[in-house]
Amino acid sequence: GVSDGRNEAHLRVVLLGDPGVGKSSLVAIFRREQDREAAEQQLEVFDCTLMVDGKETTLLVMDTDERNMKKAIESSDSPMRLGNAYIIVYSVTDRASFESASELRIQLRRTRQAENIPIILVGNKTDLVRSREVSVEEGRACAVVFDCKFIETSAVLQHNVQELFEGMVRQIRLRREGA
Ligand code: GDP
Ligand code: MG
Repeated sequence: GVSDGRNEAHLRVVLLGDPGVGKSSLVAIFRREQDREAAEQQLEVFDCTLMVDGKETTLLVMDTDERNMKKAIESSDSPMRLGNAYIIVYSVTDRASFESASELRIQLRRTRQAENIPIILVGNKTDLVRSREVSVEEGRACAVVFDCKFIETSAVLQHNVQELFEGMVRQIRLRREGA
C-alpha cells in the first residue's frame, strides 16, 4: 500500500534511562563503524533499517546520556520532545534505575500529554543473574501500570535485543495504521 518503508523513514526512537543501564550497548549492534567513532564525541543519533514482517522500516535512533538530557524539558529539542517513540531502560541489577524509569515515564506523560506515544520498558543486564534486584514480575507489573510494553534483555549476550527493536517497529506500525 501507500504506507511502505519510505514513508516510515526517520521515525525518531529515543532511548532514556539512568547512566550505566546499557542504552549504548543495546544499540551498538545496529551501528556502523563510522557512527561508532562519531558517537564517542557527542549526541548520538544514527539511522538503522530493520526488516520486520517482510517490510523495511528505517528508524532514527537517539541514544541519550547525561549531557544531552541536561537540556531543560521545556526546550524544544529536548529528547523528551523529539521522540516519536521511546525505549526506557533500567538495569535489573539496579533498583534505583528501575525507579528512575518510572519517573521518566511520568515525565514523558506530562510533556507529551495528548499524544499516544509507543513506549517500551526494558529491563537490561539479565545475564547478571546473581546481582538481580528487580524481578521480571515487578518489571511486567510496572509496564501494566504505565501502559507500555515490556521486555527483558541482555546487551552483552544479545538476548532479546533484536526482539526489542522489532517490537518497537510493530508498535509504531500499529499506531500508524490505527489498528
Ligand atoms: P549507558 O550509560 O546506558 O549507555 O550504558 P552503557 O551501554 O555504556 O553500559 C554501561 C556498562 O554496562 C558497560 O560497562 C557495559 O558493558 C555494561 N553493560 C551494558 N549492558 C549490559 C548487559 O546486558 N549485561 C552486562 N553484564 N553488562 C552490560
Ligand atoms: Mg551511553
